[in-house]
Amino acid sequence: MTARPFGTSDRLRPFGESVFATISRLAARYGAVNLGQGFPNFDGPEFVKDAAIRAIREGRGQYARTFGLPEVTRAVAARFRATSGVEVDPDAEVTVTSGCTEASAAVMLGLVNPGDEVVLVEPFYDSYPACVAMAGGTVRTVRLRAPDFAFPLEDLRKAVGPRTKAILVNTPHNPLGRVLTRAELEGIAAIARAADCLVISDEVYEEIWYGEPHLSISTLPGMRERTVVLSSLGKTFSLTGWKIGWSIAPPALSAGVRAAHQFLTFCSATPLQRASVDALSAPRAYYEGLRADYRARRDLLLAELRGAGLDPYEPEGSYFVVAPHAGFGFAGDVEFVMHLVEKVGVACIPCSAFHMPGPDGCKDAEARSLVRFAFCKTPETLRAAGERLRSMGRVGRS
Ligand code: GLN
Repeated sequence: MTARPFGTSDRLRPFGESVFATISRLAARYGAVNLGQGFPNFDGPEFVKDAAIRAIREGRGQYARTFGLPEVTRAVAARFRATSGVEVDPDAEVTVTSGCTEASAAVMLGLVNPGDEVVLVEPFYDSYPACVAMAGGTVRTVRLRAPDFAFPLEDLRKAVGPRTKAILVNTPHNPLGRVLTRAELEGIAAIARAADCLVISDEVYEEIWYGEPHLSISTLPGMRERTVVLSSLGKTFSLTGWKIGWSIAPPALSAGVRAAHQFLTFCSATPLQRASVDALSAPRAYYEGLRADYRARRDLLLAELRGAGLDPYEPEGSYFVVAPHAGFGFAGDVEFVMHLVEKVGVACIPCSAFHMPGPDGCKDAEARSLVRFAFCKTPETLRAAGERLRSMGRVGRS
């Protein structure tokens, strides 16, 4: 026996287990319809799967170039040119990673020094603050607030200072479904330029929007040189388990990302990288079909939630819907989610998990007011969730 206190490092202990792992485990234990973790319960396209099978059969089984197979970095650059109009050098500016989650870790570890500040926008994807912590950085937060979740530019101006290394922006937004407007992005860009800091732009839901199209902040004046764009194959091609993501950034920033990436994973799975070339060459009709499918799924889930007495916010993008639980008589989002998963048989995510954890969990009433439902599910699954939710008694709305 050792007397030394072995265990999780001080850097990571505050973050506990990822909410997605917890909720998927609970959903399985209680046999709940799982609208928690954002993974499609349908398969990715046959043409992409076939390409991966071909790559395996052709013997593409060894390590790839660390920052990505040349044909993949070229395909990412070509797709970025098609969507944003911006020309990037695939050899110097694109880095293929094991999903966007690894890309965000590599960005933080490769570009943030201990003591640097990174501004995060609550509610946020739970891995961001953990990645900042791994890099020894300090998190500052601003918050998107109901009812319109408009970007709080004034708060951002106050949160940014001489130690700010980067502002992390996510649009289309997980979990709120906001698609930031040109005016909002111009506001953020002006603040980043004035503070001479970087912007890390998580754009994994770039193809999933229902009104105004997605706009990358990297395309605004003076932003290309200070922005790291992150995206992935997972959401656009319903292949979240393939873990193929990438960063796009000018050479000096890409050098930092690559410095970390080579020691994190060295390279991402070669045959899956190879297949992403076929994915990224999909015709325009593929993306239009994806959006039409998701619009139908969104509208179905909104109707099901409304039918159950919830009052969801209509998302402009992404595949998530948030709704307040006020009126159902629960102290917080975690209590409501536990009731749903155990007694009603539907799993969803408590949005307090997308806020900075306090010393004994998140106690902030605003952070605990919303729950998130994922609609990257078949219509049958969304209807089954609705049916169960309708069985839930209401305790009067506030
Ligand atoms: N991005 C997904 C979500 O928000 C989950 C990713 C993960 O589980 N690591 O649901």
